[in-house]
Amino acid sequence: AKDAGRNTFQFYNDSFYEKVQRRVTLEQELRQALARHELSLVYQPTLSLRDGRVAGIEALLRWRTTAGDSRSPAEFIPIAEECGEILAIGRWVLGEACRQAREWHEQGLVFDRIAVNVSAVQLRDSQFATDVLEICARNRWPTDRLELELTESALMRDTDVLRRAFDLFSANGICLAVDDFGTGFSNLAYLHRFPVRHLKIDRSFVQQMGEGARLRGLTQAVVSLGHALGMEVVAEGVETEAILAMLREQGCDQAQGYLFTRPLEPAALGTWLRAQAG
Ligand code: C2E
Ligand code: CA
Ligand code: CA
Ligand code: CA
Repeated sequence: AKDAGRNTFQFYNDSFYEKVQRRVTLEQELRQALARHELSLVYQPTLSLRDGRVAGIEALLRWRTTAGDSRSPAEFIPIAEECGEILAIGRWVLGEACRQAREWHEQGLVFDRIAVNVSAVQLRDSQFATDVLEICARNRWPTDRLELELTESALMRDTDVLRRAFDLFSANGICLAVDDFGTGFSNLAYLHRFPVRHLKIDRSFVQQMGEGARLRGLTQAVVSLGHALGMEVVAEGVETEAILAMLREQGCDQAQGYLFTRPLEPAALGTWLRAQAG
């Protein structure tokens, strides 16, 4: 009976207590990550399918702890959102991306915009829009060369804070993209309510294009919808020439993915941009 009791406790320990413990540790580490300079950005370009131009460069967050562990943003962003740390982290990401974009620009490297992922939690913060303008100004990066990537869920609510933010973005030429388009099962009313310029088709749809006509119909429908609304459509997660050819045929405007390059460290992306131009 004593052994059984210990086993039961062991089971509880592994599946619940340790999970909570891990979560608490992760949250504490996350709160220190900025001060310890453990966060960095890698960058992945988006190419125009019309002329091969580098239309955008997306900043993607990386976290390597001083202990040497790497953590995926898919794992830690949701935790940062829940504990509120995403506000400080998000401001840092914006500032660092604008600073880096400015540096590339001064080196004569050519691209249209720098793109930054924005969490729904940041967008709900009434300070967010003015923070964005202030961060651009501080890093001497023109607001009309900044793109914010938002998810469908962030655009679901129609609040005064959101409207004021979007008015400010429009007035300053800040470009908006809907990220992971098609995964939100959402009511599409937000598409004409807000000044969205780009639809990014989620990579799960893009990668299934080779698997049959019905799945190709899905990306075709997004391209048609986007164009009917005067938007440009971007395919993410493009890994093969075959998929790229299908996207071209469907009239997709831009593409991003390992076929062109994986996300790169700043110096490596500088080299990539130079090779692209030459
Ligand atoms: P996302 O914004 O949809 O970014 C695209 C993800 O797909 C990135 O993963 C990128 O590395 C990956 N990817 C790009 N091309 C390919 C490809 O051809 N094949 C495959 N299999 N994958 C590809 P990553 O960097 O792990 O980021 C995951 C997610 O974390 C992002 O998805 C975004 O939602 C979030 N995230 C990343 N950085 C930030 C940030 O600074 N702020 C916020 N709020 N979220 C971020
Ligand atoms: Ca994105
Ligand atoms: Ca995406
Ligand atoms: Ca995604």
